[in-house]
Amino acid sequence: MAARPDRGEVASYIPELAGVDPGAFGMVAIDAEGRVAAGGDADLPFSIQSISKVFTLTLALGMVGDLLWRRVGREPSGNPFNSIVQLERERGVPRNPFINAGAIAVTDVILSGHQPREALGEILRFLQFLAQDETIYVDRAVAESEKRTGFRNIALANYMKSFGVIDNPVDFTLGVYFHHCAIAMTCRQLAMAGRYLAHSGRIPSAGSSVVSPERARRINALMLTCGHYDGSGEFAYRVGLPGKSGVGGGILAVAPGKASIAVWSPGLDANGNSHLGRIALEKLARRMGWSIFGTE
Ligand code: GLU
Repeated sequence: MAARPDRGEVASYIPELAGVDPGAFGMVAIDAEGRVAAGGDADLPFSIQSISKVFTLTLALGMVGDLLWRRVGREPSGNPFNSIVQLERERGVPRNPFINAGAIAVTDVILSGHQPREALGEILRFLQFLAQDETIYVDRAVAESEKRTGFRNIALANYMKSFGVIDNPVDFTLGVYFHHCAIAMTCRQLAMAGRYLAHSGRIPSAGSSVVSPERARRINALMLTCGHYDGSGEFAYRVGLPGKSGVGGGILAVAPGKASIAVWSPGLDANGNSHLGRIALEKLARRMGWSIFGTE
């Protein structure tokens, strides 16, 4: 696929992602009343990749509560998403649940006591429930592609295992990790799935509660500080919303009390975050006065 410098570069380290059209763009915002504003390729599924980490974090906190923080920290890493450097200094405990090492540790928590297939099913069903859409699926070709080439993640998992941070067989934990990263969703489905984070743990238009207000607030805090790897400061500075990016080019952003927003443009900036996606969110947040740091 030809490079589009104006849009950033499509991720190619997962071979299956390299063929995605760099010209695709979609965006959806859903407000508290459930009203939907959609534009562009809003209904084209894409690989959510690291955005899945928001939902695995939610599930793991539901299973083990604050015990999770023995396995993973809550500090921004300042390192690339797949960095191994900090693991040695901190005895195999990853900095936060959104860098790859942290998300692998969180996946290991969800896997414990289950077969890999059950753990993956749990994650997929959670997303289908949140989005109210049973068509959401795991793209097996993307998962297999990453499994074949994910040497860095294999190294991270083995390194953590050597410190006792991973309980299950490394292959099993990584299998679930690669597959949940390979879940395919549209912007519409993703914005639906993020509603509980925008509304204090509840889905107001459905009248259901997913997590407590405190938990939603804390997940948002982690998204703000750690959701864009070593580009998290820049995202907070420019957009001013909790958000989580994925190397598939998606971003889920949360305007607390106002809206859940999903954007997708596959070209990435140097930190592995959607280039146009970030710009679109910056414009939307400014236009709507949605920055959590002030409305002017
Ligand atoms: N599955 C990807 C990896 O582990 C996720 C990275 C991302 O989306 O930032 O490399």
